[in-house]
Amino acid sequence: MKALIAALLTTIAAPAVAAPAVAAPAVAADRPVVEITRLDCGSAMIKDFNTFFSDTLEYPAGPRRIPDSCYLVRDGAQTLLWDTGFPAALKGKPMDMGALVASIDKTIPEQLATIGLKPSDINIVGISHMHGDHVGQAADFPTAKLLVGKADFEQTAGPKDPFGPWRAPGAKLQLEHGRDIDVFGDGKVIALNMPGHTPDHMSLLVKLASGVVLLTGDLYHATEARTLRGVPPFNTSRAETLASIDRFERLARHYNARVIIQHEQRDIAKLPAFPAAAR
Ligand SMILES: [Zn+2]
Repeated sequence: MKALIAALLTTIAAPAVAAPAVAAPAVAADRPVVEITRLDCGSAMIKDFNTFFSDTLEYPAGPRRIPDSCYLVRDGAQTLLWDTGFPAALKGKPMDMGALVASIDKTIPEQLATIGLKPSDINIVGISHMHGDHVGQAADFPTAKLLVGKADFEQTAGPKDPFGPWRAPGAKLQLEHGRDIDVFGDGKVIALNMPGHTPDHMSLLVKLASGVVLLTGDLYHATEARTLRGVPPFNTSRAETLASIDRFERLARHYNARVIIQHEQRDIAKLPAFPAAAR
């Protein structure tokens, strides 16, 4: 019966002729489900939020702790880890980096283990951009394919290379520049070309059954940035960032999307607390 339904679905899906009403409720359980699980990938205590994040000094002054979130995106049997947080070595050893103090409570593999996944179960590690709070645990998933912007990959080569496992010849590596990527080939999970914060920065669009979710990467770092079209002082191209913001907001409107600023506590709370997943 399952095979018959699958064959029927294939027949329906393949040609351009749509037949949306056929048997949808009966086969719902067999369809791949897309889901997002929010992971805790650390936090940063920013010593002065305004000077650190606003190149126009328009944000509130003083300290603020911001979360560092990562995401497990499942599309049927396929798995994407979106961003990899601070390094596991910071667990129990917060690091004062000058303008901020970085820390983590739980590593990504520890969190995945509680939902029955091993690092080798991750098919793709997708990196929004090359900064240290997004690449920290990438190398702990050496069997996955790495999906990252080309220039971001090239600029991180060197002694503190977070992408060592993927520098070897024949490594599973997808470097992109200047276009969106259909991550699993079914149109449900799209890495969006959103350059500016870094040369090949990406955001992520995920089509859940409950609606579209947009994960910003660090196109924004906080609600204030989205409200004021704010740009941080550490940024590759202000003009490109503003153009990416324009495109991002038009996509958000078009899809009536849930926007998740990955460092904004109010936004990450729009997704269920781990280990629950949004579908
Ligand atoms: Zn960040």
